[in-house]
Amino acid sequence: MGTIFDKIISREIAADIVYEDDLLLAFKDIAPKAPVHYLIIPKQPIATLNDANPEHQALLGQMMLTAAKLAKEAGVAEGGYRVQMNCNPDGGQVVYHIHLHLMGGRAFSA
Ligand code: AMP
Repeated sequence: MGTIFDKIISREIAADIVYEDDLLLAFKDIAPKAPVHYLIIPKQPIATLNDANPEHQALLGQMMLTAAKLAKEAGVAEGGYRVQMNCNPDGGQVVYHIHLHLMGGRAFSA
């Protein structure tokens, strides 16, 4: 079954999209925890990081490099930022379509 992120990919529901390529989509988090808070997702639905396998290695790397690129474009690279992926309930995952949180523009403590 699809998640809300599938509906964002298919444009069934709107999002503030900041980046798109053949494999990835990035958009602003609807409940931002920092002045810059983007979600970077693969178009391919992988439910959790536990479901990723070696075939996804390049895709996962692409997500990380895209986070760094978008951090630079958003002007937070120099100051610093946080990249986070939550997995399953104890990790705080709510949407079961893997995504990287890119958060910047404020200081994070531990
Ligand atoms: P996680 O807890 O890691 O699964 O994060 C899910 C994130 O998706 C949360 O930070 C939500 O605020 C965000 N989110 C949920 N629905 C939407 C939406 N329609 N557009 C943008 N962000 C969303």
